Amino acid sequence: MDTMGEKEIPIDTFDALLRDLVTWDLVVRGEGDDAQTWRLVARAQQRLGELAIARGPWPAERTVYLDRLCADCGRRHLTWVRDGTYVCNPCWQKRLTSVQDEPITVALVAAGGPSLGSSSSEPIAS
Ligand SMILES: [Zn+2]
Repeated sequence: MDTMGEKEIPIDTFDALLRDLVTWDLVVRGEGDDAQTWRLVARAQQRLGELAIARGPWPAERTVYLDRLCADCGRRHLTWVRDGTYVCNPCWQKRLTSVQDEPITVALVAAGGPSLGSSSSEPIAS
């Protein structure tokens, strides 16, 4: 029994997804010696590249919540998750101006190198 490392998600979890790839001709089987291998068609690879870039390392920063109370002013505003709490934009601006030594790096690295292999969305710590 292999208990080392991260627990891998069973591959059959993705059956529907994988079937879709085949159904929509987004993957094709290799030919000849490569008959056991599959590869993404070119347009799927290209789109994947675009999505990986667009996704960026800060998805939480871009998710807007409509029905949360702001942790600072307690009012029902559009809020964003900041530092683990729901905060409306005016309050967040207030926080930024009152805590000057707090490093603000997240928004600046949006165009950083896409890394498809990693599913990590950790903000870059400075
Ligand atoms: Zn607020």
